[in-house]
Amino acid sequence: MQWSDVFATRNARMKASEIRELLKLLDQPDIISFAGGIPDPELFPAEAFSKALATAMQPGQAKVALQYSVSEGYRPLREWIAGRMADLGVSCDADNILITSGSQQALDYLGKLMLSPDDTALVTWPSYLGALGAFNAYEPRYARLDPFSNESPELLKAQAGAAGGAIKFAYLSPDFANPTGETLSLAGREALLDQAEALGIAIIEDAAYQSLRFDGDSIPPILALDVARNGGIERTRTIYCGTFSKTLSPGLRVGWVCAAKDVIGRLVLMKQAADLHSPTLNQIATNDVARALFDEHVNRLRTVYSARRDRMIAALEREMPANVHFTRPEGGMFIWVTLDPSIDAAELLARAVRDARVAFVPGGAFFADGSGRNTLRLSFSCASDQQIDEGIRRLGEMLKAPAAR
Ligand code: PMP
Repeated sequence: MQWSDVFATRNARMKASEIRELLKLLDQPDIISFAGGIPDPELFPAEAFSKALATAMQPGQAKVALQYSVSEGYRPLREWIAGRMADLGVSCDADNILITSGSQQALDYLGKLMLSPDDTALVTWPSYLGALGAFNAYEPRYARLDPFSNESPELLKAQAGAAGGAIKFAYLSPDFANPTGETLSLAGREALLDQAEALGIAIIEDAAYQSLRFDGDSIPPILALDVARNGGIERTRTIYCGTFSKTLSPGLRVGWVCAAKDVIGRLVLMKQAADLHSPTLNQIATNDVARALFDEHVNRLRTVYSARRDRMIAALEREMPANVHFTRPEGGMFIWVTLDPSIDAAELLARAVRDARVAFVPGGAFFADGSGRNTLRLSFSCASDQQIDEGIRRLGEMLKAPAAR
């Protein structure tokens, strides 16, 4: 069977990244890995979930928990999320919320909703790899969005025009971004809204790490600023993607979209066509656990992760040669490192795994144009103090060696 003859053209854009293949080899006990961007499993609220799942299995409740449910999602959970969105300055109700199977599913649906082949998506350079992967299936072109500098909308248009197609949306992760750890300032958020208004495009606000702020002043979501300037969520252009993956559990696959009802209505049709609804039991358990302990639990995560961030920054300051630069994130899970332009981080990874038994993610994969080869992402979320000290020491040693220069 010549399978490629029967596959749709969009498959050409859906490739396993070399990096992912390489990272699969890293699951060996003697490797100190700063590669995986995942929550520390030691911190999962397992006991609370165990109780919530047992309660959902009681006679009576099991009839709901094990049954099909509506595509929009479990209403009490949508109500709780709407309340949290209101706390963030997004006044909305449960009908502005769609529950998705992680925010990854939301990114796929938003690509499906907005991108025809050759349309242009504005994305940050670098961007979350999974977003590029989700959008790729809809065969877009990419143009560079640089909200961290002061670009005029005309400039954005010129850049996007060079890429071709209708510009549909700007995608970014404004809080402690994956992979850079950077946070977009209030002024940057307002400027982005100005640019999006001038271009007549949507904004996809990927808020995966939004709750994980360790220090600094909290900044309202772009959607909150949009609601404030336009007098209500129904008049906004921002689509907010949230998730419980970084706070309660990624394995349960519970995320949400918060947006104008016109958008939610279309996404509900996609959910119906794709998987009918997210698992009822997972939504019920998430609702119970979130209501019981969300704030307390997230505070604990902040304490643990911020200590690991501090430790990694101290180690980088101590061990890295002067020509290595790194971000100092106010939250999230990642530090972004920029090496001398002569160093290829993918080659460095191969040597680091072989000679120093240390792993990270080379940055090139996060750039839609394949640039950024001298960058890398370090995750501190799962590393012990000793692993951080030793792993960063070994990396520093490699970078100081003549072969790395
Ligand atoms: N957005 C960003 C920026 C992420 O880092 C991730 C997970 N790595 C996701 C979305 C997807 O997460 P989930 O589908 O588990 O909500």
